[in-house]
Amino acid sequence: MAEYRSEILICGGGVVGLTTAYVLAQRGVRVTVADVSATGQEASWAGAGMLPPGFRMNADSAELRIRSYSHSLWPSFVQKLREQTGMDNGYVVCGAIEFPDSHQTCQSLLQSAVNDGVVAEQQLSSQLRPMVPGLGNEWQSGVWLPQFAQVRNPRHLQALRAACVRLGVIIAEHQASLRLERDEQKLVSARSTTDVFRFDRVLVAAGSWSSLVLAELGITIPVKPVRGQIVQLRMDRLPFRCVLEVGRRYLVPRPDGLILIGSTEEDVGFQKANTADGVSSLLDFACSLVPELRQASIVKMWSGLRPYSSDELPLLGQIGDFQNLFIGTGHFRAGLQMSPATGTILADLLTDNEPSISLDGLRADRFL
Ligand SMILES: Cc1cc2nc3c(=O)[nH]c(=O)nc-3n(C[C@H](O)[C@H](O)[C@H](O)COP(=O)(O)OP(=O)(O)OC[C@H]3O[C@@H](n4cnc5c(N)ncnc54)[C@H](O)[C@@H]3O)c2cc1C
Repeated sequence: MAEYRSEILICGGGVVGLTTAYVLAQRGVRVTVADVSATGQEASWAGAGMLPPGFRMNADSAELRIRSYSHSLWPSFVQKLREQTGMDNGYVVCGAIEFPDSHQTCQSLLQSAVNDGVVAEQQLSSQLRPMVPGLGNEWQSGVWLPQFAQVRNPRHLQALRAACVRLGVIIAEHQASLRLERDEQKLVSARSTTDVFRFDRVLVAAGSWSSLVLAELGITIPVKPVRGQIVQLRMDRLPFRCVLEVGRRYLVPRPDGLILIGSTEEDVGFQKANTADGVSSLLDFACSLVPELRQASIVKMWSGLRPYSSDELPLLGQIGDFQNLFIGTGHFRAGLQMSPATGTILADLLTDNEPSISLDGLRADRFL
């Protein structure tokens, strides 16, 4: 049995765990990431990589505050990752058009963008058609958000993992039956069937599975999986270059001709699957928005389990009676967007530093 010793053990190698490890390692902290599977293969891999902007780091809304903080960090974060690894994660400011769904008007979309401090312009049919030539006739107006960006999740995770390794982070994958072990009010080690990990502090960043890890320690958090399905299409000529959104459904074009259609929200436990119902509803949505997508080829489809929390906001920081137990989970639909801010906040908390934004509405213990 191999034994590893680090200052901080991170259980879970999704975007939250790897980003936190990356920020900590840059500060000279000795970190190990232990995952029951391969890192970066769950929700963080499955997501669409949309990065909506925000410019209100002092907002009363916790969601807007952490989104804005993350938005401010993304460009320098990407540049540093690229310098350290030579890898391109596909980050690009591509813009987005939001179309009102049945509960919205263009005016309400514009108002919410203004509240977020975001540049937004209402576009009528004649302005939309040059941007999306194949747009369906019933889509007569939308809101253009030029600061909206995207990243290619699998590439971003590969770059994060490579940067962590370069900085000396130990990445221990396929740790079957990984369990935290206590010595009275302190957690002291984690043991799998093959290895043992000793640490000063531990961060549970196991996405949808975090509630199971904490339940073993007698701590209940309202986090559960919510499945999202995605269908990936290919067109020889990309019919639009910005993200198109209607409510919680969207099309994300990649510069190499791929288009992601997302996504469903399904409360089905830990079952990953594509269903006839889910896939047909995504295809109907895509073809109603841009009818020429009927000619696109279907490349593949997949699903992922978003870590949903009951107020749809992340839980960050120390939790329960164990002084050295921290969590970072519950990011639901925005874990990629929020990852630079999340990793920085968690690294601050784990090293007794004050985070740059208020954590009101984001603290890990708000449901206890
Ligand atoms: C279809 C879909 C579309 C999405 N689109 C977007 C988007 O456009 N923009 C955006 O910002 N977000 C998006 N998201 C949300 C985003 O992907 C998630 O919020 C984010 O990936 C959560 O990251 P995580 O690290 O918490 O969890 P995960 O990526 O799920 O990682 C958890 C890790 O923990 C490991 N693990 C499990 N149990 C244990 C254990 N006991 N011990 C140790 N490790 C364990 C797992 O193997 C896994 O590697 C989307 C998600 C889905 C599913």
